[in-house]
Amino acid sequence: MKLNVCRWPEEVLADKAAPVEEVTPELRELVDNMIETMYADDGVGLAAPQVGESIRLICVDQTGPKERADLMVLINPELSDCEGRVDSEEGCLSCPGFSGKVKRYEKGKLTAKDLDGNDVCMDVDGYLAIILQHEIDHLDGVTIVDRASRLKQAMYRKKAAKWAE
Ligand code: ZN
Repeated sequence: MKLNVCRWPEEVLADKAAPVEEVTPELRELVDNMIETMYADDGVGLAAPQVGESIRLICVDQTGPKERADLMVLINPELSDCEGRVDSEEGCLSCPGFSGKVKRYEKGKLTAKDLDGNDVCMDVDGYLAIILQHEIDHLDGVTIVDRASRLKQAMYRKKAAKWAE
């Protein structure tokens, strides 16, 4: 089932999400729905807070909805040993009509759990590293709008208020 994607400045997008303690059937169903939603909306990543669940769970597929060749579901993901800086032009399913340059790390080390409770530990760089930083930001209550200049934020706030009417 495709889920409704929350839009900035909805409260849930600003909350710090709670760690996932266990994989329940409900969680698996949420994951299925998140994957469907991500692909349907032409995304390369989706974080649980974007569908109203304030928990540390993300799905990513850097190959996008056409190829669907690199799907990863990550529980309690963390990036460490981050290095290098890159400018990244990003959009977000929760911030329609907004795009902006964000400073990201070039590479880092990903640790997480998968749905079967296995440890995920891998070096990441390039596009995948950027997507992961974007999605982990969501788990910490940060969107690309929050990372933009105050002026850009104010302009987008006006735009978003119009849509909400
Ligand atoms: Zn996003």
